[in-house]
Amino acid sequence: MRPTNPPDHAYDPDLRADADLDAEARARGYRLAVQCTSCKQWLVNARSVAAHRGPVCRRKGDNVA
Ligand SMILES: [Zn+2]
Repeated sequence: MRPTNPPDHAYDPDLRADADLDAEARARGYRLAVQCTSCKQWLVNARSVAAHRGPVCRRKGDNVA
């Protein structure tokens, strides 16, 4: 089964389970990353992860998300 991009359940920093997962990963020295829905770059910045889009694509404003 191929994962979709963005996935059915996008990372949501306001969701307790997602926030806990992120905190857990950081505590162990990992960073959660998502793929930009436009250019497929891997994103680790919190805002980019939440938006599933990188800063460059967000600036371009093409609302694909
Ligand atoms: Zn992008």
